[in-house]
Parts: sequence; structure tokens; C-alpha cells
Amino acid sequence: MRHDAFEPASSLLSRLAARNGAGSVQRFCGDIAFPIDPLFRGEKVAIEQLAQLAGCDLSALERVSIRHLGKGHFRLRDEFASLQSFQRTRIRVCPECIRSEMPSAAEPWRVPRRLQWKFSSIRSCPEHGCMLVSLPPEKFSKDARDFSAQLRKHYGWILDQPVIYADHSPFEEYLTNRILKGRGERLLDRLELNVVSRACEVLGLRIAKGSDASLAGHREADWMSFGALGYEVLKGGPLALSDCLAAMAREDGVDGRFFGRVFGAWATWLKSLSLGDEFEPLRDVVRRHIFDHFSVRRGVLVLGVPSEGMASPNAQKPFSLKGFAKRNAEDLVRRGLAKRNADGSIVPMGFVTQRMLAAYERERRFFPARKGSRAKVVVEAHGAGAAEAAGEAHLSISAAAQGLRVTAKTVVYLVENGLLYGVDAPELYRRGTTVVTAGSLAQFRGSFISLGELADVARRPQGALSMRLRNADVALLAMPYGLSRIYWREDVDTYVAAEQ
Ligand SMILES: [Zn+2]
Repeated sequence: MRHDAFEPASSLLSRLAARNGAGSVQRFCGDIAFPIDPLFRGEKVAIEQLAQLAGCDLSALERVSIRHLGKGHFRLRDEFASLQSFQRTRIRVCPECIRSEMPSAAEPWRVPRRLQWKFSSIRSCPEHGCMLVSLPPEKFSKDARDFSAQLRKHYGWILDQPVIYADHSPFEEYLTNRILKGRGERLLDRLELNVVSRACEVLGLRIAKGSDASLAGHREADWMSFGALGYEVLKGGPLALSDCLAAMAREDGVDGRFFGRVFGAWATWLKSLSLGDEFEPLRDVVRRHIFDHFSVRRGVLVLGVPSEGMASPNAQKPFSLKGFAKRNAEDLVRRGLAKRNADGSIVPMGFVTQRMLAAYERERRFFPARKGSRAKVVVEAHGAGAAEAAGEAHLSISAAAQGLRVTAKTVVYLVENGLLYGVDAPELYRRGTTVVTAGSLAQFRGSFISLGELADVARRPQGALSMRLRNADVALLAMPYGLSRIYWREDVDTYVAAEQ
């Protein structure tokens, strides 16, 4: 049986059952002794067995099959999602897709389920420009998950549904692409699926309806337009979000002194204790905005973290650099951790803390050889450096990023600052391409571990891990925000040992 790139394993199994004339997927699996429950949980062994049975490509099938981790948590490739992100108890379809692909109630196996139809925040069909509909509820969930049997049963009902026209939004398009193809490197991409979809919707609600609007009581069509609105902002990254939040404080009739009142439903939602650890990276961005723009009394919790009672740095004169940091002030400017004032003095950036400066010193003492000239490493490599590295293996920036499980932007930063050794190698790659030497990559990995690598090893979502590490006071490599998080390996080892 043909497998479409967007079809989850559960749908393929259900169609196979219908094609073989079985009354239900349960009966079909009973007859051929197929492990139905493991398949619906997305277990690899069962998916392998199904690929053999259907004669289709295993990796294509695995790519779009959701793994149930228990306790309302799900995994899709490297994506993490929660119960709220899915339509679990009802099947949703595009009535027009069914009309065009299923000629009669007797041929439900002709229609493969689309993975994207399962996601709550995707509400329309791009091909037909109409809203998806949820099939009538079933008493038993085992019936509701048998896709082909449900189509057969509700065929007449589906044909009777009025078509509600709706434009497929860029927000839905983003989610669909991400579900089917994978994610990129922007803020949105680094947030987990359930965080992204809800964040866009709730931010859009606040933008559209103001600070008094509540989270409840909106129609599906409203949520669809909220999602599109919030996406327009969040796709611009942390700065765009911060600009948007700053604009809210300037709206007429809003008491701009208190972040809770300014942000309304957006703050209520972010404060909610029912949100998992994976929301922490988003909270982190909003929290930083709050500490930068509002004066919060000491001890007051800002999205779970107590305020230190400092006036916002925008209003306050930044602390001055001392000692090692002062001697290396120029380097801190190059690193994006300090800036030069109009009068020529160098001050740390608003987000830089004394802890971060301590981390910077530790790292600089660890890499004494490159002291003072790190910004020129790439340029120098044209000469002696390139010759020296000539016999060495090279990796492209993106291959190094993949290996370290960090963004390409982060690798470029590490190269520019001498933490990784890069050379311009036109003879190896496109002209002007910088490549990373394998030796420096190995050396770097010996001392450091990225959050991405750690999440792979620990099999936990990145957001949860980064929060635990922060609570345990494990220092990050000193870098500006917007780059991937990297830790000292020895610190992480100490932390892991203490945990056990
Ligand atoms: Zn359609």
C-alpha cells in the first residue's frame, strides 16, 4: 500500500485493515497477530513491522509517526509536544479532501490521514481554503483512532458538512512545514511545538483584544486569527517580542507600571503552573524583558523567579568593569558582551552579570594561547594558520553545528572568538567559506557540552534541562543571548554526579 509523506503509521495500518475488508483495525490486527497497541504508541519495532507489511519505506514512515511517551507527552522526531497540542479523542478532516479522494463509503482506504490534521493549532486546509471539521465523538477511544473505519462510518455526515471558507494562515503553514519537514534555528524553532503554537495564539489574543481580555470564551475562528497575529511577532525573534511587549505598555488606558496588568492574558498564561519545563526558554525571554523594563519589588515572583529588587537597567547606570574584565574590555566589546559609550568608556551590556564576567575570565584563562588576537583568527588563517591546518580534516560550519548540536550562528561566534579554529578554505568549499578544523572541534568538545548534546544524552527536552542546570547554578559559556547554550563539561559532570 502506498504511503504518503504526511501519513502517520496509525493511519496506514487503519487503511490496510480497511483495504483487506476487515470491519475494524482491531479485528485485522487480531487476525494477523499484529502488535496494535505498540503501533499506536509509536514504538519503533511495531513501525518496522508495519513498513514490512505495507511494503513502504521505514524511515519515511517513522518521520511522521508520533511516539507516545506517557503522562501526556509526545515526541515527533526531535520535537516534543503535549496533550494539549493534539486532537486526541476526535478525528479532524478537511471535508473537501474527503469529497475529492473518497468516491464512496466503501473505499475509505483511499484517504490517508494528514499528520497536520492532528495538531490543534492547524485549523484549515491550504488546498481547499476551508476549515477542518471534527468527526462526531465516539464512546470508546479505540474506535476514535481507527481512521478508515471512522471515515466509512461518518461518510454521509462529512458530505453534509457546510464548507466554511478560511484562509490558511502563515502560522498554520509554519506549523505544517515544521511537523512534516523539520525545524530551523529561529527563536520559534527552538521552542517546543506545544509552546510555539500556544504562544502565538495567546500573544495574538493579547494584541487583538487588549489587556482585559481573558483566556477563555473565544471561537475556533478567533483562535485562528490570534495565532496568525502572534506568529507575525514571534517569528521576528526575542527583539521583536520585546518591542511588541514594550508597545503594550504604551497603549492608552493601560497601567504601564505593572507587567501583570500590561500583559493581561499573556502574563496569566505564562505564569500558569500547569505549563511544563519546556516553556522555560520563552519565559526566560519575557522575564528578561520584564526585569529590563519594569521596576519590580524585591522578592516578587516574575514568572517563577524572585525579583532582586533592582530598578530596571534601562533606568539605572550600568555597573562598571573591574579587574580582569576591565583589562579585556576591548575583547568584551568584540564578544558582544560590552559596548562603547559615546564618551569612549566601555560598559557591560544590560544582560551581562558579574557571574557572566567570571565565566568569561575562566574561559579566557583556559585559552591563554589565543589571548588578545581572537577576532583576527579567521583572517590570520589565510597565512601561517592555513598552512598549519593544511594536513588537517575540516568540517563546514553547518556540519560543525550539527555535530555540536548548536546553531550555525553559534559556531560562527565560536570561530570568530577563537574557541573553535576556523580557516577560510576556498579550495575545499565555495570561495570565502569558513571551515572548522576537526582537531579544534574535538578539543572544544573535550571541554564543553552544548545543551543540545546534553538533551540527547539525557533524553529530556532542552527547556527542562536548561532550567535544572540554571537552578543548580551551572555556569554557561559567556555569550550574548540568541546563541545556543554551552556548558563546561566538568561542571555538568559534577552536577550529574550530585544528582545521582
Ligand atoms: Zn482539503
